[in-house]
Amino acid sequence: MKTVCPGCNLVCGLYIDNGNIDFRKNAPVNAGKLCKFGMKLPEYYAQPQIKSTKSKMSKAINEASKILSSVDKSKVAYVSVGNTTCEEHLAFMELASTMSAVVNTGFGVFGDLPIGVGIPLEEIENAKNIILAFINPYEQYPLLTRRILKAKNNGANIINIGFFKNRNLASENYILNPTNYILELLELKLNGFANGVIISDLHFYTNPEVVKILLNLAKSTNSKITFMKPFVNSSGSIILSKPDNQKSIPQILEGCISGDIKVLYLLETDLIQIMPDESKVISALENLDALIVQQSTKTPITEYANILLISERFFEKKGTVVNVEGRVQENEGISTKGIQIISNMSLKLNKNALEYSDLHNKVLTSLNIKSDASLNEYEIPSYPKTPLNMDTTVSETVQEQKMQSSASLSSASLKDMETSLMYLYNPFLWHGVNEYDFVELNLDTVKNLKLDKGGMVELISNNGTIRKPYKVSLDIPNNICISRSKLPININNISPIKLKKPIKV
Ligand code: SF4
Repeated sequence: MKTVCPGCNLVCGLYIDNGNIDFRKNAPVNAGKLCKFGMKLPEYYAQPQIKSTKSKMSKAINEASKILSSVDKSKVAYVSVGNTTCEEHLAFMELASTMSAVVNTGFGVFGDLPIGVGIPLEEIENAKNIILAFINPYEQYPLLTRRILKAKNNGANIINIGFFKNRNLASENYILNPTNYILELLELKLNGFANGVIISDLHFYTNPEVVKILLNLAKSTNSKITFMKPFVNSSGSIILSKPDNQKSIPQILEGCISGDIKVLYLLETDLIQIMPDESKVISALENLDALIVQQSTKTPITEYANILLISERFFEKKGTVVNVEGRVQENEGISTKGIQIISNMSLKLNKNALEYSDLHNKVLTSLNIKSDASLNEYEIPSYPKTPLNMDTTVSETVQEQKMQSSASLSSASLKDMETSLMYLYNPFLWHGVNEYDFVELNLDTVKNLKLDKGGMVELISNNGTIRKPYKVSLDIPNNICISRSKLPININNISPIKLKKPIKV
């Protein structure tokens, strides 16, 4: 069966049959190649499935629709971050709109900023100047790396801007301080950079001010810009869901805690997996009257669901997805079970049934594709160009944020929080797979703490203390500790921590 990898928004093509993968050499994005996550897809799909019967499902749909119809509509939040097809996402949007609500993608916080569709990957290969801003392609979007390497081999100048060096790809590195990076980014002088390509990462913790600064940089240097995103259909869900009235994921969690949100309906979205502070998510979930979860696999969020609506795994879904370039690809699964669940909910709420074919046609229209006959994965549809109509007061906002950021650091009750713990996002982390059981430190830190070779380091935050094996990285500055896996002590995207040599018991 022809499918695509759900690991990130590059959307690499492959075949999957009887639980095994096969390389698809004519896949437009990856020409048959897969990264470590793609190679491990059989394990990912072998995670325990949730079992149900027809009558149990019918009861669950009844209960969910009763809740949605009885609760104050303004107290229900619908969330789908892009882990499903355009058609299922659109069905969810239609259900939400019948309840006068919107689907929150987590990207609504970026408003009308042009973040959805980037540039064709071929343009990256042909670029002469490239900026990598807060992105490490090797770790985060591995199949992007070969495009950048091709540009490098063709003589491209590659500049890295971020919290640590990128010695593999970049010839120039601008290392920013995590506690003051937005202002430093704003003040950065990149003499001579012009007519290039800027590549950055965009997710729920990306500060919109950073996005604005990078967009302004693209504009002032006559460069193109592309924002990589973590979920298979992030770009599709951004195109379909208008940003108006959407809440960010942190705002939704705050709403659950304050009581403004009483019911949460999550479509293929495990907030415990994707948010840095698990304990905060769990407190928010425990405050709800009802948590409705629609997905196929047992993950941490299913433990907290009041109602489980059991759908199919991603490769089994019928429908389309849009990658970071705007390329539309079909997932050739045959199941529309997830859409059927949403349609049944709609009927229970005395609204229309939702048919796959109608949804598919609406998706094609939204993507500027005339019909199925003109759906071609080798051609990127033309999207309307969004004018760069941006707030020009970035500087003032950043000044405020600088003050907030130092205030939040100084308000940490633990003293001597001299290190910033940050995630190095990668497909395993976003999908709840604990692939890397270590943190990374630089050699000076290891020497200063007198850590034992091959031993552990103790990490202390306001969320607790853990011990982890460590590795030395030559690219990380003194004040940074990197983790590629979720850690229970993380408070935020960048968390102040203290490091210690563990005391032997
Ligand atoms: S995780 Fe991303 S880069 Fe890796 S195979 Fe999947 S789509 Fe491609």
